[in-house]
Amino acid sequence: MKLQCSRCARSWPLDPTRWRCDCGGVLEIVGAPSFDPARVDERDYTLWRYRAALPLPDEATPVTLGEGWTPLVAAEWDGQPVYLKAEYLNPTGSFKDRGAAVLVTALKAAGVRKVVEDSSGNAGTALAAYAARVGLSATVYVPAHASPVKQAQIAAYGAEVVAVPGPRSEAARAVRRALEEGAVYASHVYSPLYPQGMKTVAFELWEQLGGRAPESVVVPLGHGGLLLGLHAGFGELLAAGLIERLPRLLGVQAQPCAPLARAWERGAADVEPVEEGETVAEGVRIAAPPWGRAVLAAVRESNGAVLALPDEETLMAQRKLAHQGFYVEPTSALAVAALNHLRDRLGGTPVVVLTGSGFKSPPLMANRQQRVALFAHRHDLLYDPSTHALDLVSEVGEVAKEVLLATDYGRRAPHFRPHLADELGDALYSLLALAEACGVDAEGALGAALKKYERRLIERGDAGS
Ligand SMILES: [Zn+2]
Repeated sequence: MKLQCSRCARSWPLDPTRWRCDCGGVLEIVGAPSFDPARVDERDYTLWRYRAALPLPDEATPVTLGEGWTPLVAAEWDGQPVYLKAEYLNPTGSFKDRGAAVLVTALKAAGVRKVVEDSSGNAGTALAAYAARVGLSATVYVPAHASPVKQAQIAAYGAEVVAVPGPRSEAARAVRRALEEGAVYASHVYSPLYPQGMKTVAFELWEQLGGRAPESVVVPLGHGGLLLGLHAGFGELLAAGLIERLPRLLGVQAQPCAPLARAWERGAADVEPVEEGETVAEGVRIAAPPWGRAVLAAVRESNGAVLALPDEETLMAQRKLAHQGFYVEPTSALAVAALNHLRDRLGGTPVVVLTGSGFKSPPLMANRQQRVALFAHRHDLLYDPSTHALDLVSEVGEVAKEVLLATDYGRRAPHFRPHLADELGDALYSLLALAEACGVDAEGALGAALKKYERRLIERGDAGS
């Protein structure tokens, strides 16, 4: 077993602290053990039942919180059968626990005591938990915009949280500075051990479906670690003659930040970085995925596809999933929302991986954002995730101000802008509908405002004018 550079082909010994080649290329594991059904430990209901297929030294003791062997739930989406792989039921609430468990096991066995990581939330949370499990000290750099719930969870495990303002890439830059000072990088993006943890999802699906591969697997796509893990896992099953072909791997990105989908549409072999747009699917907000080339190749080999969806669809899917009892974060709902666009590509009953728990997004904010998104959708308004109720209200206020000025505070007709009355009507309607969507008692609020206005008029002595 060794590491090999995907750019210059140079070999390195399998060292869990090495995360890239000296030339800057990403590293792959060569000669790893592969899946052997006879070596599955059937008494172990965690991912460690596949220990024999993981490239870890024999003496390494698994660092575990009981991750893996998550339920595969049969459900329906718009009348179509679907299997939902409930990865959000992992110990820290996301699929990243698989990668973190394997990586921390290797780091611990190598005698590492301190690690750093940069993450938008779930990977940092997973690393913090597994580091805590085995007494490693961890520092996690997160973008300041990352869900405060995730930041709190990282801190709760005892890791140091460093919130970095600016786009996700700034957190990556901050971690590089720490590395220059000699820190060990436990990277969910670069470490070749991470996808080794992810590949166990493929083994589980094979077992849970009674010894066959699904026709297709749909996943949210950011860096592509899960997709690459699935590709590796199903690849091993294929090599062992246990399945006949790879399932179609279907990756879903968020439209505001979709470098892989753009490359896919162009038919390109590699990814060009995009500007990092804001999206509710914060787990896939990755503007320049370093494994882009490998991800595109894996999708192509599996006869799959990459697509990107607007946030409204994600939020609507999140709500709809919750109404069926699946409480997941927007990033997971993104993959489910894609089912409606993929009908002719699914082949049979697809598997969608529900990657992260709904407990991870701040509930109040998620709720309000969903309501605003739905409101905007119903009324054909432009909506992006940075729009919130306040923006809509201030727009209404702008129209109201114009009406007041144009009519000299209601004393004359708006003769120079005859459509103003219509605009005011629309604005008031929007405001009332928005209030209703957000569960605010608009009539009560309006009544109170009028009372206040009346009192002011009486005080000024011009009531009745
Ligand atoms: Zn190299």
